Amino acid sequence: MNITLYGSTPATTLVTADSVLQGDKMHVLVTGGAGFIGSHVVALHLARGDQVHVVDDLSTGVRANLLEYEGSPNFRFDEADILTWGRLDRAVAWADRIYHLAAVVGVYRVLAEPTKVLATNIAGCERLLRAAHDGGWKPQIVIASSSEVYGHNNEEVLHEDQDLSVSTRAGTRWGYSVSKIADEALGLSYAQRFGIPAVIARFFNTIGPRQVGRYGMVVPRFVAQAVADEPITVFGGGQQTRSFCDARDTVVALDALASRIGADTQVVNVGNDREISILELAELVIARAGSHSEIKHVALQEAYGENFEDIRRRRPALDKLRALTGFKHQYTLERTIDELIAIERQRHPKKERDGYRPLVRPESQCAA
Ligand code: UDP
Repeated sequence: MNITLYGSTPATTLVTADSVLQGDKMHVLVTGGAGFIGSHVVALHLARGDQVHVVDDLSTGVRANLLEYEGSPNFRFDEADILTWGRLDRAVAWADRIYHLAAVVGVYRVLAEPTKVLATNIAGCERLLRAAHDGGWKPQIVIASSSEVYGHNNEEVLHEDQDLSVSTRAGTRWGYSVSKIADEALGLSYAQRFGIPAVIARFFNTIGPRQVGRYGMVVPRFVAQAVADEPITVFGGGQQTRSFCDARDTVVALDALASRIGADTQVVNVGNDREISILELAELVIARAGSHSEIKHVALQEAYGENFEDIRRRRPALDKLRALTGFKHQYTLERTIDELIAIERQRHPKKERDGYRPLVRPESQCAA
């Protein structure tokens, strides 16, 4: 599939976490705002004095992620499914900017609930865009896409304008990619046909406080294992690579893109371009934690089931993000890992003595 990009507006302003663009106070709607990335979006906008309305069905998001914002007069929360939420039209008509993050995410959940992935991710995005169109008002929409749209592409660096390809070889494994390609196509279509501006952000692996390992994400799993001195479970040989970006950088980049792009529409990679193999990541987490953990290789088949195809490498080209915003990262991988280790130690100070239970197999966790 080829995706044609809309015109770009290069800029030179330097944008960092410490110098977020200051503008008028905004009305911000965050779907999936109780999730890990969503909660950081909420933090950024409340800190700026914007009004923030979150809708989340709490399927993977948790209310505790928003606890520190609940008392704010500028904050409002609705527990609802994006597919059926009765207040959607009104909330969309109220919003200046919408972050659409509500989605079924995480490898384990995606494998366990293939039909839900497609329904929630595609129909949810379509419903939101239709509400924006029906309202007659054109809020700016930030659509969460994913590096998964690049499928099994093994290019050294992934550029926004390269072809996207997924296969049906591994059954429903690529359903999430398909759903995100559909969301991108929806965003581009509503922009072209009805002039609704969209930032289509292809997130590469995002990490940081409040992310949980329950749905498969590697960094919180390794951190929990290292702090507990348990074996670090490296799936496969560990030669596969990823590039990890702190969520607090991610949300600053998103805001910078949205502010810069204005009424235009763009597809942009959002992440960090430092690439690391999963084996190196395991060694790094062990070293930073001063842990006694050993590395335990787990066959892909055992980790994910038959026919699973893991992605060999993921590194974003960030030229476009930088050209549009001048964005610079504030968080190194080491800084984020150190912080996550400290948080994990605080949460489980007596983990060893109390007999900490290891992370369990995915199937039993995805049944809900
Ligand atoms: N992974 C691993 N051990 C774990 C969890 C994940 O080795 O306990 C690997 C996984 O196979 C993949 C990488 O870490 O190669 C990143 O996995 P994650 O689910 O965090 O992100 P994604 O695969 O979606 O990029």
